[in-house]
Amino acid sequence: MTNKYLVNVFEKVKQKNPYELEFQQAVYEVLNSIEPYVNEHKEIEELNIIERLVEPERIITFRVPWLNDEGKVCVNRGYRVQFNSAIGPYKGGLRFHPSVNQSIIKFLGFEQTLKNSLTGLFMGGAKGGSDFDPKGKSDKEIMSFCQSFMTELYQHIGPDTDIPAGDIGVGKKEIGYLFGQYKRITNTFVGTITGKPLEFGGSLGRTEATGYGLAYYTSKMLEEMSNTNYKDKKVIISGSGNVALYTLEKVTNLGGKVIAMSDSNGYILDENGIDFKVLQEIKEVKKERISKYVETIKTAKYFENAKQMWTIKCDIALACATQNEIDLDCAKILVANNVILVGEGANMPCTIEATNYFIENKVLFAPAKAANCGGVMVSGFEMSQNSSRTIWSKQEVDDKLKQQMENILHEVLACAKHYGNPYDTVLGANITGFKKVANAMISQGVI
Ligand code: NDP
Repeated sequence: MTNKYLVNVFEKVKQKNPYELEFQQAVYEVLNSIEPYVNEHKEIEELNIIERLVEPERIITFRVPWLNDEGKVCVNRGYRVQFNSAIGPYKGGLRFHPSVNQSIIKFLGFEQTLKNSLTGLFMGGAKGGSDFDPKGKSDKEIMSFCQSFMTELYQHIGPDTDIPAGDIGVGKKEIGYLFGQYKRITNTFVGTITGKPLEFGGSLGRTEATGYGLAYYTSKMLEEMSNTNYKDKKVIISGSGNVALYTLEKVTNLGGKVIAMSDSNGYILDENGIDFKVLQEIKEVKKERISKYVETIKTAKYFENAKQMWTIKCDIALACATQNEIDLDCAKILVANNVILVGEGANMPCTIEATNYFIENKVLFAPAKAANCGGVMVSGFEMSQNSSRTIWSKQEVDDKLKQQMENILHEVLACAKHYGNPYDTVLGANITGFKKVANAMISQGVI
């Protein structure tokens, strides 16, 4: 990055947020990649758009006291970062995980702003969550926590203001408790939260959307950039949560063979391909660890150390677990093993060094903002259905998702090509997302 304006803004970001390493990383990646656009558009610097873009519009932090099953009072910290509302009401998920802190929520909110812009819908960027760990908690404890969390959050959100959804640790159960408390406090039944169960306003196809979207995006990428497809390709997918599971299902339907998947403790390997139904039962119904898979499928093996999974020889690697799971060392192994495509189902799962290594080595790279935006896109569809009190069929949702994922790929590739490197899809995605937000900020004046 050589543009003085961008360098200065990034220096200020570091000074103002010295301990927020994930946030710094996300900002650096974006500023570095939008440089050619900023060089061409002098008004970006004149109106100081970038310094405004990297400063969240609002950060809300709050105490979340709740009672555990022993009657003990527990306290967690809650966050909502309302990052940017230039192109629509704030929209982004809630993450409940012990690793949650302000840096992580800010990096996610910042990325969400550009991702939501890429979906083509009118949604601003936000993210929230808590360092609460739902793992090992009873339903009663989770409900107690969710009700307390919403008792504070409700005053900051609304169907035209800020619409939270799920993320790591926040699935249908948590969304149900959060929605129930919101409804009770506000005495309204509106689409303020997405990812709801179908019985009270959820959208068909939302559960599958991020994974399916990733599969559609990467499948089209293989076709357009390598004249190939998923058929008989060896695929590895990290994680075994919502995104990973539905990526497994769609990739398998498209003819790919998913040979390895993981959780934070370890990974399973089966050269015959992992069975979606068996894994879904273990993860979604029985809520067990991935290691249980080998008890049902005898050809599969389980190994401790999830990171080692990236050393398996594969054609396609899809990172669907968490941030920074693929570093430069992993990237070097994947490239040495002749990986064709790396896709980001999780947010920022590849470090900057790993991403650059893939692009330099002409690996097809599907960056998170574009490749995993299917989830928030269908959340946008859920908002439309809630406002118009209509229900779309699963087929209608899926057709729209597939079409829009392919449109986004085309926009990203056209932009990357325009700036000289068709493999630099990070530049393509960031500039495409940024342009719309920047133009909206310019039109709306100094606010
Ligand atoms: P889940 O909580 O459903 O699943 C996360 C999975 O990742 C779990 O299987 C978890 O295992 C595993 N995991 C966590 N850390 C590691 C690690 N270091 N190595 C291997 N596996 C690990 O979350 P989601 O599937 O919803 O989200 C996954 C990612 O996708 C996140 O980055 C999220 O922000 C992003 N995303 C999600 C969207 C959605 O619609 N859900 C939309 C867009 C992005 P364990 O059980 O051991 O913790």
